[in-house]
Amino acid sequence: MSQTDQDDPRVRALRAAIRDVPDFPKPGIVFKDLTTLLKDARTYRQAMDLLTESCRDLRPEKIVAIESRGFVPGAVVADRLGIGFAPVRKPGKLPYKRRSRSYALEYGTDSVEIHEDAVSAGERALIVDDVIATGGTAEATGQLVQELGASVAGFAFLVELSFLKGRERLGGADVRSVVVY
Ligand code: AMP
Repeated sequence: MSQTDQDDPRVRALRAAIRDVPDFPKPGIVFKDLTTLLKDARTYRQAMDLLTESCRDLRPEKIVAIESRGFVPGAVVADRLGIGFAPVRKPGKLPYKRRSRSYALEYGTDSVEIHEDAVSAGERALIVDDVIATGGTAEATGQLVQELGASVAGFAFLVELSFLKGRERLGGADVRSVVVY
């Protein structure tokens, strides 16, 4: 499955469970609040099932998940696929030797960091986050993975804000998303 079917009743149920919060964290941003989806056992499991199945064929060997909302789907998919998990974090959080990249966000600028031994040379890493908006965070994470000599097997998101064209920044990589707006 390359893209989750948006007419699938399971996807419709997930879409209905996601809360839109206007003007958060800044005026003009409609924040996709997934806490309403995650707090319900049924939609939580459904979302994790669909996300896992959407990216199984990419044959990842490591999940690289983006702080902090990306840790929930990333950790679940890693466990379901029986592979390891590596965190990408905001500056100053990782204790060991690390690499860092700055990126532009839908609302501001920031940096991401990864431990330099988080992935091995040649390893196929799947980058996971909750939401792809402009794609800046995911793009910077992909660059960190490649800088460490690993390859990007693809990207997986619970939610894609397709009108922001984030996937266009990901250099033709495989991008899987469950609920597309
Ligand atoms: P971006 O780098 O623009 O793709 O932004 C992605 C990151 O910002 C993700 O980690 C999301 O958690 C968060 N984010 C950006 N825009 C939104 C939004 N409208 N709703 C929820 N999260 C968002």
